[in-house]
Formats: sequence, structure tokens, C-alpha cells
Amino acid sequence: MFASTKEKRAMATAEAKLQKPEFTNEPFVDFSKPENRTAMEAALKKVASEFGREYPMYINGEKVTTTEKIKSTNPSHPSQVVGVVQSASAEQARQAIESAHAYFHTWKKVPAEKRAEILFRAADIIRKRKFETSALICYEVGKSWAEADADTAETIDFLEYYGRQMLELAGPHKVVPYQNERNFMVYIPLGAGAAIPPWNFPAAIATGMTAAALVAGNTVVLKPSEESSVIAAKMVEILYEAGIPKQALQFVTGLGEVAGDAIVKHPKTRFVAFTGSKDVGLLISEAAGKRQPGQLWIKRAVLEMGGKDATVVDEEADVDAAVEGVAQAAFGYQGQKCSACSRAIVSEKVYDSFVQKLVERAKKVTVGPAEDPANYMGPVVSESAMKGILNYIEVGKKEGKLVLGGERAPGDGYFVKPTIIADVSPMARIAQEEIFGPVLAVIKAKDFDKALQIANDTEFGLTGAVYSKNKAKLEKAEEAFHVGNLYLNRKCTGAMVGAHPFGGFNMSGTDSKTGGKDYLLHFLQAKSISEKPMN
Ligand code: NAD
Repeated sequence: MFASTKEKRAMATAEAKLQKPEFTNEPFVDFSKPENRTAMEAALKKVASEFGREYPMYINGEKVTTTEKIKSTNPSHPSQVVGVVQSASAEQARQAIESAHAYFHTWKKVPAEKRAEILFRAADIIRKRKFETSALICYEVGKSWAEADADTAETIDFLEYYGRQMLELAGPHKVVPYQNERNFMVYIPLGAGAAIPPWNFPAAIATGMTAAALVAGNTVVLKPSEESSVIAAKMVEILYEAGIPKQALQFVTGLGEVAGDAIVKHPKTRFVAFTGSKDVGLLISEAAGKRQPGQLWIKRAVLEMGGKDATVVDEEADVDAAVEGVAQAAFGYQGQKCSACSRAIVSEKVYDSFVQKLVERAKKVTVGPAEDPANYMGPVVSESAMKGILNYIEVGKKEGKLVLGGERAPGDGYFVKPTIIADVSPMARIAQEEIFGPVLAVIKAKDFDKALQIANDTEFGLTGAVYSKNKAKLEKAEEAFHVGNLYLNRKCTGAMVGAHPFGGFNMSGTDSKTGGKDYLLHFLQAKSISEKPMN
């Protein structure tokens, strides 16, 4: 008997799945090894020799440039131009989505295992260019060596993980048998959509969102952040090199409110994958919810937004471990992670010793140019980010007691000292609003229950950590701490693909759980098929 086309397809996917070893996270580079330090130094030199290069957009398979340009500068040394990108008009952004829409009917027919294979190839290419990728991240958005390497490793992880997830989802899925019918369900892609990432995980988030939508069989217009378009351009070049057709992935750079807005509102846009601030996420939610003339579907909006993440330190905690976890989560990458700890809520019985130890620990944090491995903290991403953070510090000085930092650090870059403001009231602005910089508010709580209540009392719900040796209290936190990613006796940053599916509640977003087994479903729709046998 001959196998049907469908059965052959299912066999090919099953075969591809068997051939792939199980997913494991990409190991981090050990920079204590001289050969790795030498490799990173060489990569920094090589990437610096390409400063000022111009990167085109790709629309309808063609390279496109514009008269208006955007210069992407190095926040450690703002006079250095890392690269120059194009500034798309709304019309060009619309052309990109129309072209992606037209190509959808070709791309969706490419078998899942072939699409997955392209992601695995892209992961291999990035592995080979690991140091260069990290060096560029270091220059364009001011990440330290270790933070840049983690971003690169996560990029590889997303590609490897989503490729495997697509192999799981491809092919017919069993349903409950019913009477004399042949019933099954398949997942099919949605159409052409937008990927609109932020700058703070410039390789990982941009590539992860884009690759997830592509491997599911959709076509994508990627509109990266203005702050990190050069890294995005490099990732797009790698995806093309790995085999993604240019019409399946259109690359548009420019202003969010011009190019991003035009893509979101276009009637042919089927979905929007956005990661960024609460305010822009809400704008997109509203714009995507409005039916445009000629629009045939309800747009799907996958929105991952900000946080005001808290670490609760119980009186029964290992205070030293809590101090270390809070210091790393508050000041790693200058506090510019959506998961960063921006509130430490500490039981009054250990409050004074916690604050004193934390200040001592944070005094050891070094700040300066990100390319110098002696610096734990680099610059914040831009002058406007720095101004916003310094404004919040002024507000904080009135709302609590400044116990560390509170000003710029020396240098021509956008350096801000690690800042700790103690005795902050739970409803103060610096305890409620996302600052996105190295500013920590420390809040005193009467007891554990009160601490949890304070932790939950914001509009966000992204990450949270609890330090306690009391099992019952940890269990209470499991149940009551309303965050998408809860960490017990460890820091609230550093989610790993596969191990910590990531996404938040409330104003932190739609809880899409990136790096989790359900993530690809956001880019698919299920079709039920039921066949009555012919007589
Ligand atoms: P942002 O909201 O300013 O920009 C994000 C993206 O949206 C950029 O590409 C920008 O160009 C685009 N954009 C801006 N206005 C737009 C519009 N009107 N229409 C369409 N697109 C538009 O955010 P950011 O400063 O790049 O990133 C920092 C924010 O991202 C923080 O709030 C942080 O917490 C959040 N973040 C969240 C997660 C998460 O997983 N929840 C991860 C990383 C960052």
C-alpha cells in the first residue's frame, strides 16, 4: 500500500525529530580562560573596524535605502557610530507587509522540518560567530562581556528550542475517537505578521520572536528598536544565510510611531508580536483591536511588557544570599531587564542588616565602558534613558533615603551609579513605576504576609523572588505571589530557555511564555478535520 502525502509528511517530521538530540541550553563562555578573553578582544577589534557601516532594509526581496538615516551610537562612547540604518516611511512599511502577505502562500507550504532545519543552521552560524555577536551587543547597547554572551547564548537557545517545538507541533494530532469517523487536528500558520522587539535583548528577543513566527509557517516583517537596529540587521543576514527567503522575512528599520504603527494597523497584518514598554504595548493592543477596511480577521496581539519586580526577604532568610541575589538582579545590565529587581521588600527584623550589607556589596560594583571586562556595569542605553533615570532618582530622594549612588558615574558615556533608596513607602512613585535603570527601592514590611501583599500591589506581574528558609512561607508565595515567573531562594533575573518559560501577568503582558512549549501556539491556529468513510 502507498502512503498518502499526509502520511509521508508525518513520517518526514518524525524522522527529523528522531535525528535531533534533546534540547540543552547553550553553555556560557568562561571568560576566566585566557583563550576566551583573547577571542573576545579580537572580536571587539574586528567589530570596531566595521563601525559606521550602513545597513539596508529588505522589502519584497530587494535591498532598500532611504534618504533619512538613523545613526546607532555606542552608549559607552556616544561619539562612536556603530552603524547607520534606514528610516522607513509608513508607505515602505506597508509595502513590506503586503509583500510578506503575498509570499505567505509560498512559505506556508515549506515542510515544517525544512523550516526547523533553517533555524538549526542559523544557530550553528551564530555559534561560529559567537564572540563577534557578543562584541556587537557590547558596543551597540552597552552590555558587559558576560551579559552580551548570555544574550548570544539565548539567541542560539531560541533557535534550537523553537525548531524542535515545531517538529512536535507539525503533523496531525490525535483527538478522541468518535463513531465511525477519522478525526484529527492540525496546526496551521496565521499569515503575515509583525515582530516588534525592544533593544534590551537585542539579539535574543528580536531573533526569538521572528524565528518562532517563521518556523510556524508565517511570514514576518521585523521592525527592530531604533537603539539596536545594527544587531537586528546582523541577525537578519544570518537568517537569510541559513536559508530563510527574503520575502518570508522583510526587514524594516525606522521609528516605532511611523514604521511600527503602519505595520500594526495594516489590514493584511494577521498578528503582532511585540515586546517593549507598557505604554507602547497598550497602544498596539488598541490599534490591533480595531478592524481596518478590508481586514478579514481578528489580529492576534502577543504583547510582552514591563515590570516592577520585587524580591521579598523574609526574617528567616539567608540574608547574605538575598543580598547577592538582589545586587545582581538590580544592577546586572544596569537594571535594564524587564525582570530586574527594582523593589526589595524586607522583613523589619532583618531590614537594617540587609540594607547595610547590600550597600557594602553594591559599593563593589564597577561602572564604566562595557567593552572593558573590569566593569560589571556599562552605560544605560541612551541619553534620554539616562535623563529619565536621573529624574526618577530626584523623585526618589524625596520619597526615601538615598543610601548609595544617586548620580552619574565619570566618563563620556551614559553611566549612572548603582543607586539604592531605602525607607520607601510601597505606593511611592519609585516603588510603582518602571524606571528601567540601576535604581533599587528598599521597602520595610512588618512580616512575610505584609511583604507579599506589598509585592503584589502594583499593576505589573512579571518576575518575583522570595528568600526564606521556611518551607510553609515558600509554599504560600507559590500560591499568592502573582507573577509570571517566581523564583524561590534565587535571583529574579536570568530566565533560561526551556527551563523558565517567560512572560508576565496584568500590565506585564499577555503571558506568552517565550522559551516554553506553548509559545509557538501564538503563531498557529488549529484546524479540526473529520472524515466519514466512503461506502
Ligand atoms: P518601547 O516600548 O519603547 O519600544 C519597543 C518597540 O516598539 C521598539 O521596536 C519601538 O520602535 C516600537 N514602537 C514604539 N512605538 C511604537 C508604535 N506606536 N507602534 C508600533 N511600534 C512602536 O520599549 P523599549 O524601550 O525598546 O524596551 C524596554 C521595555 O521593554 C521595558 O518596559 C521592558 O520592561 C520591556 N521588556 C519586556 C520584556 C518581557 O518579556 N516582558 C522583555 C524585554 C523588555
